[in-house]
Parts: sequence; C-alpha cells; structure tokens
Amino acid sequence: MIHQFDTVIVGSGGAGLYAALEASERSKTAVLSKLYPIRSHTGAAQGGISAALGNVEEDKAEWHAFDTVKGGDYLVDQAAAKILTEEAIQAVYDLENRGLPFNRTPEGKIDQRRFGGHTRNFGEGPVRRACYAADRTGHMILQTLYQQCIKNEVAFFDEFQVVDLIMTDTTCNGVVAVELATGELHLFAAKAVLFATGGFGRMFKITSNAYANTGDGPAVCARKGIPLMDMEFFQFHPTGIMGLGILISEAVRGEGGILRNRDGHRFMEDYSPTLLDLAPRDIVARSMLTEVRAGKGIRGDRKIDDYLHLDATHLGKETLTTKLPDISSFCQTYLGIDPADSPIPVLPTAHYAMGGIPTDVHGRVICDGQGTIVNGLYAAGECACVSVHGANRLGTNSLLDLVVFGRRAGIHIGDYVKQIDMPQVSAADAADAQSWMARLTDGSPGPHGGRISEEMQTLMMEKVGIYRTASEMAAAVDALQALRERYQTVRVQDSGKQFNTDLLEVIELGNLLDLSLITAASALNRQESRGAHSREDFPERDDDRWLKHTLAQLAGDIVRLSDKPVDTSIWEPKPRTY
Ligand SMILES: Cc1cc2nc3c(=O)[nH]c(=O)nc-3n(C[C@H](O)[C@H](O)[C@H](O)COP(=O)(O)OP(=O)(O)OC[C@H]3O[C@@H](n4cnc5c(N)ncnc54)[C@H](O)[C@@H]3O)c2cc1C
Repeated sequence: MIHQFDTVIVGSGGAGLYAALEASERSKTAVLSKLYPIRSHTGAAQGGISAALGNVEEDKAEWHAFDTVKGGDYLVDQAAAKILTEEAIQAVYDLENRGLPFNRTPEGKIDQRRFGGHTRNFGEGPVRRACYAADRTGHMILQTLYQQCIKNEVAFFDEFQVVDLIMTDTTCNGVVAVELATGELHLFAAKAVLFATGGFGRMFKITSNAYANTGDGPAVCARKGIPLMDMEFFQFHPTGIMGLGILISEAVRGEGGILRNRDGHRFMEDYSPTLLDLAPRDIVARSMLTEVRAGKGIRGDRKIDDYLHLDATHLGKETLTTKLPDISSFCQTYLGIDPADSPIPVLPTAHYAMGGIPTDVHGRVICDGQGTIVNGLYAAGECACVSVHGANRLGTNSLLDLVVFGRRAGIHIGDYVKQIDMPQVSAADAADAQSWMARLTDGSPGPHGGRISEEMQTLMMEKVGIYRTASEMAAAVDALQALRERYQTVRVQDSGKQFNTDLLEVIELGNLLDLSLITAASALNRQESRGAHSREDFPERDDDRWLKHTLAQLAGDIVRLSDKPVDTSIWEPKPRTY
C-alpha cells in the first residue's frame, strides 16, 4: 500500500511529537511509531528538563551553555549549545502552557532542583536548574505533546516499524514500514522525513534503556551510506539498580542523595571536591569503577559487577514520597527495600548515545565533513547528533534537546515542504526490504538471533564499556564482524504474518550489530580520553590531535573513518576540573 504525506515523522517520543506538532500546523503530517506512542522511552525519563529560569536562585542561559560545553569535554558545537540553552526557557514555558503539570514553588512558580554538572557562575557550585514533575517528567512531556498532536489531527500509524528509507542520490523520498498487525509492507511517499527513533542502549548487556531502543534510524541511515557522528561516546549513568540496570534517577542525588563505598565513605569527596556527587556522569561512573577496582565496593571482591550504595535515608519519607515517588516504588519492586530505611545498591548502567545521525541546527541531516545536506531528511532527539552533548551529556539536557531541536526541525520542515513537489514512489522501492524479509522467513534452517544478541551485548559491555584499551576494542571489532557474518544465517522461527515480533526483533538485532561495529571501530580509532570515552592506554585528552568529531561510514564489512571540525567559537577548551 502506498501513502502520501508532506511530512513523515518516524518516532513518537518527545522529539518526534514536538516536531509533529510544529509540522502539522504547516503541512499534512503522519507519525509512524513501532510502539504505541506514549510507550516511547521518553515516558521513562524521570529527573527533569533543564532551563535557566532562575526561579529559585539566580541563573543565566550563558552559564547553562558553558556547563553544557564543559560537561561535554569541549567536543560540543558551541553555537548549537547556545541555541539549546537560550531557547530552553521559552521551550519550558511552552510546555507549561500546553498543559504540563510541573512541580511548583510555594509562590506558584515552576520548581527547580539540582542535577549533575549544572553550576552557577561558570562552575562555582551547583545550581537549581532542572524543572520537574515529580520523577515522571518525561511521562508528563509525552502525555502533553500527544494530546496536542491529537488536537492538531496528526495521522498516527501506531505499531508501524520503519525498515528502509527511499532515496534517490542525496534526496529522501519516503520510507518503507512493516505493519505489525498484518505483516504487510507500506510505502510512505513524503517531501520530508524526520527520524526521531531514540537511543540504542540495547547494544549493552546492562542498560537503563527500553527493549525498543535499538537504533533503527541511525542503522537505516548508515546502510544508505550516511556517516554517523561521534559514536564512540556512549554514556554510562552512575546509578542503575545493581544487576538489572534499571535507572535510579540522578534526581536522588539532586535532592541530596550520597554515594558511599563499603566503609560508608562519601568517596566523591576524593574525586570532585566542588560538585561531589553531582559531578558530570562520566566522572562519577569512572570514580565508582575505580572504587570497585580498589576493593572498596560493597562486596569488596574487585569484580566488575561489584556495587556501591546510593544513600537516600537522610532525605526523609516526605521528600521521597512527594519528589521521588517512582524511585521509591522501583526500590520496593525490584529490591524489596524502602530507600527511606536502606541504601540502594547501584552500579553504572549503559544509558545514552551522545553520537548519532549528524544534523545542522534545523535538524537537516548532513552527510560529510563539509556539511552537505541530504534533501528532505531530518533527525532529532537521541538518534541525532547536532552536537550539543559532545563527549558527555549533562543530566536533563536530553529532554531539552528533544523539545528545542524537535521544534526547530518541525518548523523548518513546514517551510521546506511548501517549496517542493510530492516525490513519486512505486512498489519497486520496497524491493530491498522485501527480499531481506523474505530471506529471514524463507523457512530454511538457521539459528535464532537470541544467542548472537547475547554475545553482542556481553562484548560491548566488557570490551567497549567505561574503560577501554586498544587490544580489547580490536578484539571486539573482530568478534562483531564475525557476529555480523553469523547474522546472515539467522532465520525467523515464527512463519506467521500477524504480529510477527520474532521477525521485527531479528531486524532490530541487525541494526544493533551495525551500530555496535560502528561504535567499536570509532572508539578504537580515537587515541585519547575525552568525556565518556576513557582509554587506559591514552589516559589524557589530546586537543592537538583529537579535538574533532568522528564521522564513521559503514561500507560492507568495514567502517570508514573521517572527521569534522568542532565549533569552539565561544570558549577556548580548558582542562576539566570540578
Ligand atoms: C530511564 C531513563 C530516564 C531518563 N531520564 C531523563 C531525564 O530525567 N532527563 C533527561 O533529559 N533525559 C533523560 N533520559 C534520556 C531521555 O529520556 C531520552 O534521551 C529521550 O527521551 C529520547 O527521546 P526521543 O524522542 O529521541 O526517543 P524515544 O522517546 O526513545 O522514542 C523513540 C520513538 O521512535 C520509535 N521508533 C524507533 N524505531 C522505530 C522504527 N524502526 N519504526 C518506527 N518507529 C520507531 C519508537 O516507537 C518511539 O516512539 C532518560 C532516559 C532513560 C532511559
């Protein structure tokens, strides 16, 4: 079946819905989502969205921009960070006006709390910058935007999984999607397509990410020859629930929670004397691993899965119930403890992709180091790299990124689609997707994808995790290439058409394998330590050689690497201390 829309948005998280809201005011817009829209991972975001409102203490957008650049270890494009932080203020008020129920100060203003790496006056001390709705901020954003999209009569195609882009040269003409309920392929002709498909934490064994976070958008782009940017930078969040990876929001530390080792010592005093537990995440996660390696984890066995304590017992029941209710109930459900009485056992968990599909500040996808635009193709949110997070994202800056750049992309698309004609697409445009799926389901014997998926996740966790070395990463690249070969023999066991989740999971596994290979190859290439990329064999940041973005292009079995300059037009890179 062939559909026609001016604008097709792939993904209904915060980025997709904000873009859809703006695009639908200017063009005929459809949103395709492999999940029911409000099940998108944005709904799991807990802690908050940052904006220098200055509601509880003095704050400035300029301080916010500086923190973002420094937090990202100077790999951030600074003009983009300026846009992010300046437009943050209006973005939060827009959300409020559209109905988002933020927590309030006693005077009725939007309340704000502390988060890692957010400081006053260029690093003097923590500042209250995160606006929040208890610990359900993302859930509230998603509900608010979804209601507004329904009001704007956006056409939703729920449980449609996009498997391919329709392209001629450097112009995008639409997408190919599988309808989950029927197994049918649908073609969507569109003047503009925006990918807002979210993150890909499912590359790793222990992750805070939902099962659906498989990086479909970046993988489809990579297979079309579009290079992905800064893929070596993957954030580990310090506080996942031990063994499970389920997130305990940084908001717990924002409200005063403290990390302790087996001696009860607040060890962040030794690593970050000014910001303590609220240092940026890369620093806290590394400090935790250093404690574990020194035998100061709670078990003290120096093993990689030893854990530490997040102590919130002194916060009191009242704060926990009113400001962190979901966290309290996660602790009850998954650990059987009440955080008011017992410390929470935590361990870093794979959390956020700083890299992704390269875009300009209007969300337009670019396909080389010179900034060449792919006509009609846009990306926003976690799958995109604009780049405002550089080598390490600050907490609460992702929800902000979705809203600010989702909105900008939606507005740009609205103008762009007025200038061009509807592209022609035909059934032949689905041929690649069709033959791929036919092979997977041809009934010939072949292994199930599950084993390959487990091996990939373990490899990525152990060899391309928080601390990295050349030999481990080279071994990971080889092993991933072998896994990609084995993947060619995988067959789907379920031969049915309706709700064939087996087929869709195998397609997702293919995407994760491609992105894992690109991540490992990019990480092996970068011979320095910067932000979340920590090389034991190259422990220092090296601005002379490596102050540049990585562009990684998938070419069959290999990854071709090139680079792109970083915009440092406002602040000179300096050593990072907190
Ligand atoms: C547990 C957790 C807590 C977090 N807390 C915070 C926080 O407090 N503050 C903060 O700033 N950030 C937080 N983050 C990060 C932030 O929530 C995410 O980066 C952000 O929500 C991603 O939004 P998105 O719109 O890019 O994608 P998502 O919300 O992940 O949505 C992706 C969408 O793409 C669709 N999709 C994917 N693939 C396909 C396909 N092939 N075909 C069709 N549709 C597809 C999905 O159905 C979904 O609708 C948190 C993340 C996690 C995991």
